[in-house]
Amino acid sequence: MRIGAHVDQADPLAEAATRAAEAVQFFLSDPQGWKAPKPREDADRLRAAEVDVYVHAPYVINVATRNNRIRIPSRKLLLGHATAAAQVGARGLIVHGGHVNAGDDLAVGFDNWRKTFAYAADSGGFPVPVLIENTAGGDNACARRLDALARLWDALGDYEVGFCLDTCHAYAGGEELLDLVDRVKAITGRIDLVHANNSKGGFNSGQDRHDNLDGGTIDPELLVAVIRAADAPVIVETPGGATGQGADIAFLREQLGTGA
Ligand SMILES: [Zn+2]
Repeated sequence: MRIGAHVDQADPLAEAATRAAEAVQFFLSDPQGWKAPKPREDADRLRAAEVDVYVHAPYVINVATRNNRIRIPSRKLLLGHATAAAQVGARGLIVHGGHVNAGDDLAVGFDNWRKTFAYAADSGGFPVPVLIENTAGGDNACARRLDALARLWDALGDYEVGFCLDTCHAYAGGEELLDLVDRVKAITGRIDLVHANNSKGGFNSGQDRHDNLDGGTIDPELLVAVIRAADAPVIVETPGGATGQGADIAFLREQLGTGA
């Protein structure tokens, strides 16, 4: 089981080394902005690295919404990030499930997701696996609760779609962690990546506030059980920089018995 961290995009391989990480995730641009990613000078090094590379798409992307001025640029930005992610040898591009606006039918959101994959297919498909991540909050989210996730997967049935399970988002989003992996896999058939985070917010709080693995409101033993069951690469997106994340990675290796 490869274990790593979400790190600053300036020098991901150096960040990996300071954390003894076997995998890194980073942004290719400002996560709150709409700018297309620029080519990276370290692309060759990243592609050749022992460390597994994952790219997280900007938070502003919402391909589900009925709002054209968000949805259309979101599609383009997602495809642009997938292309740039391929240049750095990424194993996946992680993107949040998104949401529709209050009063809008979630079915439209699922169909907009289908259109996003159709749009990419028109230009040869996404060049890296797109991993849709479950989210913590909102009443109109496409991937907060598993009932919505099941409808999303139905809508995307014609396409190859990956899944990223965030433990904080699941718990804060109101999904019990016990047997979560089985219930997710019954829908998606796969978990490509785990975002291993404890939660500052309580169960079903809807709060996206990550905490270190042995802190927070989730019993660390339960957290470890979910991660073990998922049997997928792990990225911690926890606070405390290299020290906090390094400790979380060491904690997981010890708990999972996968000393690297
Ligand atoms: Zn996450």
